[in-house]
Amino acid sequence: STMPPLLSAIANAGRHGVLAKSAVVMERLGQIDLVALDKTGTLTQGTPRVTSIRPLPGTGLDEGGLLTLAAAAEHPSEHPLARAVVDAARERGLHLPEATSFSSAPGEGVTATVEGQTVQVGSPSRLLTDADNLPCKEAVAELEDAGRTAVAVLRNGAVAGVLGIADRLRPDAAATVAALTELTGRTPVLLTGDNERAARHLAAEVGITDVRAGLLPQDKVAAVNAWRTEGRRVLVVGDGVNDAPALAAAHSGIAMGKAGSDLALETADAIVVRDELATIPSIVQLSRTARRLVI
Ligand code: ADP
Ligand code: MG
Repeated sequence: STMPPLLSAIANAGRHGVLAKSAVVMERLGQIDLVALDKTGTLTQGTPRVTSIRPLPGTGLDEGGLLTLAAAAEHPSEHPLARAVVDAARERGLHLPEATSFSSAPGEGVTATVEGQTVQVGSPSRLLTDADNLPCKEAVAELEDAGRTAVAVLRNGAVAGVLGIADRLRPDAAATVAALTELTGRTPVLLTGDNERAARHLAAEVGITDVRAGLLPQDKVAAVNAWRTEGRRVLVVGDGVNDAPALAAAHSGIAMGKAGSDLALETADAIVVRDELATIPSIVQLSRTARRLVI
């Protein structure tokens, strides 16, 4: 072909199932020497499932009642955990009342008005602060020790219960981590908003030991900027609204197309359209080859 090398690299990336937004993107991808991976929706399949529903005694809620509240509030959210909650409610044939005045805080959770009540669903470490939430904290610890993501549900500021959500690794996660380690000479780092226990559980299965958990979107950016200060050229791979600022701050940002939120897809330099994590080391390799042809 008579195409310039970087353009043919874009075409090649396309054949591998990766959409690169410009030739410059391919050039920068070829320069990366450290990879930071998001957990939920990136290292995992992004289709987590609700595995336990624990209404708190004294709330007057049964499993169906708790799930209805949580799912109604989560309905407008595009977060993978939100979809898990809504799907669980649908599978049980629950009727979901309409949520109004919905808002979401990336890396934290959602708040909505459901039948006149304020419902919050999200990270236990952010939502549970009072000593009187102890029974709830015990349920959270138990779920997290089992490698689950625990999600707290609050009604009018009081804890209503806890949901346990199980996420599965992508089948090509371990192979991808190994390939990226080989390419960069350093094991990728896990950046996640989820809790430390669930994150370490999962990281161990793919050979990742550097785990930064409980991160808000701006904490992910701070990690990226600290590496940049050290002269690292960081590739960030993510899917969520919570990853968008880090995708923008990185030397290169790649979003997972299928699970990806609109904001992540807009912000990333490249998008994995064929839903395979293993395409990432392939296109890094491809970009390096293209660079060599240009230089
Ligand atoms: P990750 O960085 O692993 O992709 P996120 O930053 O998206 O995870 O989420 C971090 C944590 O914030 C979740 O583990 C959960 O506790 C909470 N959270 C965020 N969004 C939601 C939501 N829509 N529903 C419930 N919990 C949420
Ligand atoms: Mg994510």
